[in-house]
Amino acid sequence: MRKKLIAGNWKMNKDIHETAVLMEGLKERLKNLYDGVGVAVCPPFPSLVVAKSFLEGTSIALGAQNMSQHDDGAYTGEVSAKMLTAIGCTYVILGHSERRQYFRETDEQVNAKVKKALKAGLQPIICVGETLEERESGVTEKIITVQIKGVLHELTASDIGRTVIAYEPVWAIGTGKTATPDQANQVHKLIRKLVAQTYERSVADALIIQYGGSMNAENAQALLSQSDIDGGLIGGASLKPEAFAGIVQAARAVSRPG
Ligand code: PEP
Repeated sequence: MRKKLIAGNWKMNKDIHETAVLMEGLKERLKNLYDGVGVAVCPPFPSLVVAKSFLEGTSIALGAQNMSQHDDGAYTGEVSAKMLTAIGCTYVILGHSERRQYFRETDEQVNAKVKKALKAGLQPIICVGETLEERESGVTEKIITVQIKGVLHELTASDIGRTVIAYEPVWAIGTGKTATPDQANQVHKLIRKLVAQTYERSVADALIIQYGGSMNAENAQALLSQSDIDGGLIGGASLKPEAFAGIVQAARAVSRPG
C-alpha cells in the first residue's frame, strides 16, 4: 500500500517570526499523528532554516517551493538544489501552476529542474493540472498527457521512484472549488497509466500521486479514500494548524481501515 503524503505549500506567506508561531502550532496539533502518513511543510525560502529548527523530534519533512535549473553562478535571485539540501530539505515543489502562470515556466524547464533536484538528492513534487477552460473544452486528458510526458522526459525508473506527482486542477487552487473525488481519481488513474506505459507497471504502482486544490479537513477523507489519490498538496489549509492536522488525520483514517 502506498503511504499517503500530506505536504503544505505555504506559498508567499509567513515571515520568520510568523513561521516560528505556525511551526509551534503544527507541532502541537500533529503530535501523535505521524504513524502511517508522511507529512511535509514547504515554507518560503527565508523561513526554511527557521522551520527546520522546529523539526527535531517530529516526523515532519522540509520542502522548498521552487529552485533553479542551474547549479550555481550568475543567476540573480535564484536558489540552487545544493542550497536546499544543505538546509535539510527533502522535497521541492516544481512546476506549480502559479509558477507556470505568473513566471511562464514550461514543461521543459520543469523537466530540467526535476533532473537537477534528483541529482542533488531532493525529491521533486511535480505539479500538473488543467485550467477551467481546458476542462470545459474536453481536453483535460490531452493536457495532462503532454505535461506528464514533458516533465518526466528522460527520467529513469529509479528517478520515478524518488518522484511525487501532484495533480492540481488550476480551477480548484485557492478557489474553494474542489474536484469531486471521482473527477480527481480519473486523472490520477490516467497519470498512473501514462507512467506504466513508459516504465514497468510496478514503478507506476509505487508512484505517489497527490491531489491539490482546495483540500480541507472536511473534504479530505472523501478524496484520500479514492484508489489512486495518495495524499494532498495543501495551500490555504496548510497555514492553519487545526485544518492541516485535520487533513493528516483523514489520511491516517483512510490508511488504516477498521
Ligand atoms: C496549492 O497551491 O498547491 C493548493 C493546492 O492551494 P489550495 O489548497 O489553497 O487550493
